[in-house]
Amino acid sequence: VASETGEPMPFTRPASLDAALARLAEGNRRFVEERPQAPPSSAHRVELASGQSPFAVVLGCSDSRVPIETIFDQHPGNLFVIRLAGNIVNDDGLASIEYGIEVLRCMLVVVLGHSQCGAVRAALEHVRAGTIFSGHIQRIADAITPSVRRAAARDGDVWEGAVAENVRAGAQAILDRSALVRAAAAQGSVRVAGAVYELHTGEVRFLADARESHE
Ligand SMILES: [Zn+2]
Repeated sequence: VASETGEPMPFTRPASLDAALARLAEGNRRFVEERPQAPPSSAHRVELASGQSPFAVVLGCSDSRVPIETIFDQHPGNLFVIRLAGNIVNDDGLASIEYGIEVLRCMLVVVLGHSQCGAVRAALEHVRAGTIFSGHIQRIADAITPSVRRAAARDGDVWEGAVAENVRAGAQAILDRSALVRAAAAQGSVRVAGAVYELHTGEVRFLADARESHE
């Protein structure tokens, strides 16, 4: 990911898809290096009251340890965030993603998983031990189960592998199920990316083309 202009962080929209990705990557680097630039600003809040123009949609996990604006060091107004446990893709989430693209003109859709994800862990328990979770919770495990099975068929830590598989599956599902996002991506005005946040280091690792590596 190419470097952008640097400091101070601009309020303007990125000029290209690469610049948009770079802005997220640079924001995460500031977060990791403990030199954030996005403190709450009342002047900016008032400015935003007249309208928003976020540049990225982020579908992240509800996990309290993964606050999206914080880990990307982004001001209010920059990110259109959807959070569901396990960053799963469902119809209501897709509606918000499409709103972010079609109405708000976001340039990126980032599916963001994270290490030690409890939702992925639940799917793993469902696969390994046949655990059935109460109420609606089982829906989360069901959504992630195919990713757990793919990860289990490979070498390496299954929990960690399933987190990445679930991100790839999410990016693919968005493209498969949303004609609107698919058209925007084909046109080159939108990119769908996958990334994994590492709880220990604070680093966000973008997955090399999330879509193509999905089977
Ligand atoms: Zn999680």
